[in-house]
Amino acid sequence: MMVQGHIMIGAAVYIAAKRYFYGDGWYMAPGIVIESLCVFLGLLLPDVDHPSSTIGKRVKWLSYPVWAFFGHRGITHSFIFPLLIVFAGHYYNIALMQWVALGVILHLLGDFLTPSGIPLLYPLKTSYRAPITIPTNGIGEAVFCLFAFGLALLYAFNI
Ligand SMILES: [Zn+2]
Repeated sequence: MMVQGHIMIGAAVYIAAKRYFYGDGWYMAPGIVIESLCVFLGLLLPDVDHPSSTIGKRVKWLSYPVWAFFGHRGITHSFIFPLLIVFAGHYYNIALMQWVALGVILHLLGDFLTPSGIPLLYPLKTSYRAPITIPTNGIGEAVFCLFAFGLALLYAFNI
């Protein structure tokens, strides 16, 4: 899934969940700006394993070694990665890390919907994907992401 798709799916799930838990005034919930930024970071983070990805281009010093050692859609696309972030958040007492982990999980959900799938049980090489997949960077991906984002907006603003 392309970065725009990850952001749209992530934003859709995040605002729908906020609306569900906080009701009509969800957008006034305390900490929503910093939480959103953390989710946004988490949405980009798994693709740090690809030097030409949106985040990989900005941190080549990190993305090249991760890519060389684990490959694209390796450890950063497994269940281990969000768990490591949650554990790090607990260890260093940074509660906002749970929002980064949520963003990572939403990224993995997006890639789970692609034909390549994700190596959920890394280092096992088996790739897991949804029964119905959407090819990356195709019109189907754009339509699906816009549809999900639109539905979330309708729900979040009671339209
Ligand atoms: Zn990815």
